[in-house]
Amino acid sequence: MSKGFTTKILHSDLEAPIEHFSVLKPMHTAVAFGYPDARDLVKVFKGEQPGYAYGRQGNPTTAALESKISKMEDGIATACFSTGMAAIASAFIALLRSGDHVVSSAFLFGNTNSLFGTLDQLGCDISYVDATSVDNVEKALRPNTRMVFVETIANPRTQVADLVRIGELCVRRGIVYVVDNTMTSPYLFRPKQVRAGLVVNSLTKYIGGHGNALGGAVTDTGLYDWKSYPNIYDNYKNAKPENWGILQIRKKGLRDVGATLAAEAAHRLAQGAETLALRMERASENALQLARFLSSHPGVTKVYYPGLEDHPQHRLAGELFRTYGALMSIELADGIDCLDFLNRLQLVISSSHLGDNRTLAIPVAQTIYWEMGAARRAEMGIADSLIRLSIGIEDIEDLLADFTQALA
Ligand SMILES: *Cc1c(COP(=O)(O)O)cnc(C)c1O
Repeated sequence: MSKGFTTKILHSDLEAPIEHFSVLKPMHTAVAFGYPDARDLVKVFKGEQPGYAYGRQGNPTTAALESKISKMEDGIATACFSTGMAAIASAFIALLRSGDHVVSSAFLFGNTNSLFGTLDQLGCDISYVDATSVDNVEKALRPNTRMVFVETIANPRTQVADLVRIGELCVRRGIVYVVDNTMTSPYLFRPKQVRAGLVVNSLTKYIGGHGNALGGAVTDTGLYDWKSYPNIYDNYKNAKPENWGILQIRKKGLRDVGATLAAEAAHRLAQGAETLALRMERASENALQLARFLSSHPGVTKVYYPGLEDHPQHRLAGELFRTYGALMSIELADGIDCLDFLNRLQLVISSSHLGDNRTLAIPVAQTIYWEMGAARRAEMGIADSLIRLSIGIEDIEDLLADFTQALA
């Protein structure tokens, strides 16, 4: 029986019997796993038998969450990490070698942008392109291009990448297509449908949703043929070829770097994930109403939200995503100081997080994009008055009233 999105998450823990007829996977905080027969320990170490060796490489609680993320993304395997950044960094460190080339969207989460700067220093070349058109990606490809990286809806300006055609290009050229699905979440969009080989999610955001745990995930969709990837170490070619990529990401990111998700955090994230669909529906509906309200308000000169008809990728977003999401950015009219405006908001919280149940706002140029400097900000289209809004699940009347009074 093929089940719906939420049903699958809710009943995932019960696929194998749990002691005492518990309906939730219990939290396993043990770091060590003892084997009555030492031969089993050896087999687990060699990957010849399923099991756990040492907590840095995972435990039953993180495995239960990994299985839920795989179901959400329709993937074959998922590795969870301590944060979204740890997931992204692990995927790149595991799969790239010096001299390799990566094509990335220029519209990037700020810390991913900074990570790519580090990879560049370590001998990988990164080209940044406007990924709203596949032509720019294609022009940037080189014989040594190993990966193309895009976000679904870019943060903060909400550009939507040319997801379908970039996927076709990557398949044609045998390049690993990595999609950061954080902003849409697997409820709004499955990157597998546009041929992504790897999907990354910051679990800290919508999937966890409650702002009480950090986490990240890399999911292998099973579409990329790792036999044709040059950077897989011989040690990891014992497994079935479809598992080579995620195994290497696990070994490098978890075992060698130690970017491991704690059991307590995995447990909270799994609980949050149960209501992902409900929260996304509500937050997206709030966002659409608020975007319409703000775009007709004289105090607001610009609203960037894919759900508005004047958004350049409005049609594409409507075709690909279940809703238009819950993130938008606005620019205020001249004469309204953006920090004073934020201080006048009573309900909306000034905070750098997003994907929370609560509505959050942040002045972008002065905070998350401060370090990259004015020139790169201008390239990315980030005005000094830009405010990013992550819309929550409050009652819409209360949100409208708060913005009305703060703009008055
Ligand atoms: C927040 C975010 C990340 C990083 O996730 P953390 O869990 O905060 O490390 C990566 N990509 C996008 C698009 C994000 O919004």
